Amino acid sequence: MRFNTALLHGEFGADGKTGATTTPIYQSSAFEQETAEKLENVFNGREPGFIYTRIGNPTIDAFERRISFLEGGTGAVACASGMSAATLALLNIVRSGEEIVSGSGIFGGTYSLFGCLEDLGIVTRYAGDNSARSFRENINEKTRAIYIETIGNPKLDVYDIKELAELAHSHGIPLIVDNTVTTPYLVKPLSLGADIVIHSTSKYINGSGNSIGGIIIDGGRFKWDFEKYPSLKPYKKFGNFTYLAKLRKTIFKDFGACMSPFNAYLSSLGLETMALRLDRLCSNALQLAKVLETHSKIKAVNYPGLESSEYHPVAAAQFGDKFGAILTIRVGSRENAFKLINDLKYAYNLSNIGDVRTLVIHPASTIYATNSPVEMERMGVYEDLIRISVGIEDLEDIIADFEQALDKLN
Ligand SMILES: *Cc1c(COP(=O)(O)O)cnc(C)c1O
Repeated sequence: MRFNTALLHGEFGADGKTGATTTPIYQSSAFEQETAEKLENVFNGREPGFIYTRIGNPTIDAFERRISFLEGGTGAVACASGMSAATLALLNIVRSGEEIVSGSGIFGGTYSLFGCLEDLGIVTRYAGDNSARSFRENINEKTRAIYIETIGNPKLDVYDIKELAELAHSHGIPLIVDNTVTTPYLVKPLSLGADIVIHSTSKYINGSGNSIGGIIIDGGRFKWDFEKYPSLKPYKKFGNFTYLAKLRKTIFKDFGACMSPFNAYLSSLGLETMALRLDRLCSNALQLAKVLETHSKIKAVNYPGLESSEYHPVAAAQFGDKFGAILTIRVGSRENAFKLINDLKYAYNLSNIGDVRTLVIHPASTIYATNSPVEMERMGVYEDLIRISVGIEDLEDIIADFEQALDKLN
C-alpha cells in the first residue's frame, strides 16, 4: 500500500456497526461490559475491550492504529500533547539518577521539559554537534536513551538517524526520534533503525491547527536489558509489546495525559490529507527560501532544502526531495524582525507550526525569552531571527507578502 492510500485505508475498514467512513467520535468517559466476568477479563487484559477513556477509547484507538501503520510501528499511544508524548516516552524507561543524551537543536518546549526532568533527578547532556562522536562523548553507564528531532526546530539541523541508531544500540540504549517536523511522509525513523518515535500531532498531522495532541509509536524491536531497565521487567511476557504494555498500563494511565476523543477525530481527519498538504507545503517552502536567499535585505536564510545549508546532504539522503516547510531568516536586528512581522499581511504572528496557513514568530522574544544567550545560540536562535512555517496559500501571494514587507525595511 502506498502512502496516500495508507492515509485513507491503513488499518481501517468502514465502521462495522454503521458503515461510517470515519471512526465516529465516541465521546464517552467509560464503556459498559455486559457482565462482571467480562469487565474482569477486559480489566485484566484477557479480552479486548474498552474500559475508561483515560486508558483507551475507540476513536483514539483508530487514530493510534493509523499512525502506527504509517510509521511501521508495533503500536502507538496517543497523548494529550506533543509535550506529554515526549515526557511519557522518556519516563517509561528513564529513572531518577539516570541520563539522556539529546541533540542540541531541539524544540524549546522539550528543552524546558529536560529542565523539569533535572528536578526529578534525570540529567540531560547535549551533544555539541550532530556527529555520532559528539553523542558518544556524552554517553556513560547511566545513559538510558538518545533523543533527537529529525529536523531541529528552529535550528533546522538534521541528524543521521541510521548512524545514531547504531551508536545507541552499541551502548544498549534506544534512539527516540521526534518526527513532528518531517512526518512519516518524509521519513520513517523506525525503518532507519530508530526505536521509538514521537510526534506533536498538533502540527502537520492535524494540519489545520485545531487541536493539541501527541503520540508515541514503538518499533517493538529493541532488545531491552532488564537489568538496565528493571521497571520493564514485569512486562517481559509481552515480547515486542514490552515497552507499550508498560506505558499503557502504568505511566500513561497514571499521569492521565490522554488525548480527547474529539481531538483524535479532528486529527484523524487532518491526517487523511497530510501528504497532499506536505507536497504543497514543502514546495512552497523551497521556492520561498530560494527567493528570500537572494533578497538584499535578508542576511541569511536557513532551510535544509537549500544547498547553502550544511545539513543539505544528510537531509537529501534521508528525506529525498522534500525538506519540510519551516525556514528561518535573519534580518539584521530585532527591530527589523519586529517591523517585518508587523508589516506582513497574510502570515499569522503566532506560536505554532505545521498549519495550512503561513505562520511567523520571533523566537528570541517569545518561546526562548527565558533562555540565556548561550542556550539560544546552541538552539540556533538569534535576536534578528524569524521562524516561518510556510502554508499552502498561493506561492505568488506568499512571496509578494514578504517582498512588500521587506521593501518597508530601511
Ligand atoms: C510543538 C512541538 C512539540 C510539542 O508539542 P505540543 O503538541 O505543542 O505539546 C514537540 N516537538 C516539536 C518538534 C514541536 O514542534
